[in-house]
Amino acid sequence: MGRQIAFVSSEVHPYSKSGGLADVAGALPLALAKLGLQVHVFSPWYSSLKATPELIGTLDFEWLYQPLRIGKISSQGVDFIFLGMHAFDRANYYGYFDDVRRFSAFCRAFLPVLGFLELKPDVIHLNDWQTGLIAPLVTHSNIKAKLVYSIHNLAYQGRWNIPEVLAWSGLPPEVAGQEGLEYYGDASCAKAGLAFSSAITTVSPTYALEIQTPEYGEGLDGFLRSRSVKGILNGIDTEYWNPGTDQFLEHRYKTLEAKSAARAALCQELGLDASRPVLGMVTRLTDQKGLDLVLPALPEIVKDWNVVVLGSGEEHYQNAIKALKNQMPSQVAFSDKFDEPFAHRIYAGADAFLMPSRFEPCGLSQLISMRYGTIPIVRYTGGLIDTVPESRGYGFHDYQTGAMLEALTNARRAWKTEIWQGKARAGMNLNVSWDAAALEYQALYARLLVES
Ligand code: ADP
Repeated sequence: MGRQIAFVSSEVHPYSKSGGLADVAGALPLALAKLGLQVHVFSPWYSSLKATPELIGTLDFEWLYQPLRIGKISSQGVDFIFLGMHAFDRANYYGYFDDVRRFSAFCRAFLPVLGFLELKPDVIHLNDWQTGLIAPLVTHSNIKAKLVYSIHNLAYQGRWNIPEVLAWSGLPPEVAGQEGLEYYGDASCAKAGLAFSSAITTVSPTYALEIQTPEYGEGLDGFLRSRSVKGILNGIDTEYWNPGTDQFLEHRYKTLEAKSAARAALCQELGLDASRPVLGMVTRLTDQKGLDLVLPALPEIVKDWNVVVLGSGEEHYQNAIKALKNQMPSQVAFSDKFDEPFAHRIYAGADAFLMPSRFEPCGLSQLISMRYGTIPIVRYTGGLIDTVPESRGYGFHDYQTGAMLEALTNARRAWKTEIWQGKARAGMNLNVSWDAAALEYQALYARLLVES
């Protein structure tokens, strides 16, 4: 029988999603299952979940004032297990003052749920801070599983005061030392995951190096330098993200030439002047994603491009883009929703995709863009360095509006030329599937299990 893996993530596509973590948790387990591993994915049962799991049981805890609901959906060889409690019956997944408390409860419930399911995983694979407290909880239990902690974004850590985190999670005080979850006098759930796991990975080789420097290390660079961090480049679900079969597209295409119909449809839908190139962005509206570079430059950018932005997040960004859209409706389109179908239409219909990130652990949007023949224009940082060489896109180094505008000008000049088409085709032909990464994770699990 294949090794058993418990994969834990606070969001999982297609059931819940706010960003790339959901894409990873929805696709990597399927790729691992294809390699013969037995994978269970554990995630919160949000009231907004996009499917209704089968209720397979409830558990009572003295620390939770309602029964914990356990739900299950089996799909493509993987069991998705959902943990339901009132804390997850809210409009958004995160962004609440009590997030650390909510996810402490999730972590605390995880081990009893394993017991309920009579699972004894060989490896428990944790992802980002929401799952970090599981690492010390496992270490202080009689469970023998190996722990892997994957960093998807070190900027989010789940930081709170130590006494309350211990009380909420049921952890003993000895886990709170400097070698444990302590972080500048507080508790960091991310640090808990890092400190108590047997292996630390992150989602690209370049980000693995970057987070060991003060600039990107979020105060944990010293700690990370004392450990080994392995960068395994993310893939995407190439069946789901496939311009030839995409369920959300009216005009599907297999070649770069045929992409023009999807482009024309997008311009028509949005009332954009189709004689100009279309620059797309599908993004969380946060500082990380380079919005502070884009906004002041937008009046300049729209001289050359139609700009289509799909992004939810910080209100000041939403308001600023809305104002520009109202001034220039045939050059700027904007939606502040989280809108999966619209995202697909942008990836397919845009000529280029802008990703001027301040930092980028891996980035999936540029991989999706390339698969759709849409040329990424990126800031060279993190996973964007690893995935967008000059042969497939455009880029710039300095985090400055001028540098970004220069890259955009270079791209604009090449639009429709053979150079442009060569880059677009190189992107479409690239293998961006999970196959390679799944093999690397499998090898990592095997190594840990041999060492034990
Ligand atoms: P991050 O995880 O930092 O947000 P990634 O590039 O790794 O960035 O992944 C972003 C994922 O979220 C992609 O699948 C992208 O298409 C999707 N996404 C981001 N914002 C939206 C939105 N407003 N509507 C639909 N999909 C979105």
